[in-house]
Amino acid sequence: MICQLCTEDKKLIKNSHIIPNFLYRGLFDAKHRLVSINLDDFSDAIYHQTGFKDKDILCEQCENEVLSKLERYAANTIFGDHTKLETEQFAGDAIHVPYIRFKNLDYTTIKLFLLSILWKSHISKNPFFSQIDLGPKYAEQLRKMIFENYAGPEDAFEVVLVRPDTNGTRPTKSMVAPRCIKEDSNTAYVFHINEIMYHFNISPHNKLSMFEKGIIKKNGILDIAIIKGEFGAGYFDSFMGKKIKLNPRHS
Ligand SMILES: [Zn+2]
Repeated sequence: MICQLCTEDKKLIKNSHIIPNFLYRGLFDAKHRLVSINLDDFSDAIYHQTGFKDKDILCEQCENEVLSKLERYAANTIFGDHTKLETEQFAGDAIHVPYIRFKNLDYTTIKLFLLSILWKSHISKNPFFSQIDLGPKYAEQLRKMIFENYAGPEDAFEVVLVRPDTNGTRPTKSMVAPRCIKEDSNTAYVFHINEIMYHFNISPHNKLSMFEKGIIKKNGILDIAIIKGEFGAGYFDSFMGKKIKLNPRHS
């Protein structure tokens, strides 16, 4: 069978994670189930025992060498022990929202890690990722970038991370079925995985203004903007396309 990443005819593995487990951290309940929300059917949260897996999409070499290398790096940096990293917290002012800044990251590895999630979601046959359809042109560009370890210029395939802090009024400790956002003939994609929204820009045409600030920089800077309170709740709602309200948690 043909491996989707190297495109060679090889024996494919039976178990490729679309979203690496460490992105769900804090999302699993005591029974190690992940709460996932399918926006088309929000009658109840769907529980997945171990996240999303596909079979027969990747060969062992691509999984264990190319993609695992990206995942290990992310697991050991922004999803790992932050005390070992150079970070900066900005409290925000009248003009700028607060953010957490990661410094001295490897631009190529961290950007390709995030893009690999988008690309694998495109490859996945799981209906949860049905809105992620990059089309042949962009899918092939991303495949080549990941396979050739080339993250491109800062202003191509931008990734922006945002944390909406809604004071427990929205189900942000969740994974929401990723969405395709079409606006002014631009197409962008958004994932929400355990309190963080991952925005991906694909086409250079009519980019949303959010893809000008906060993109990953070649000097190794990655910012996670924090959007608080009612504004955060509105932000979450607008990208989810509907209002899913919770009662504020009482602690
Ligand atoms: Zn392969």
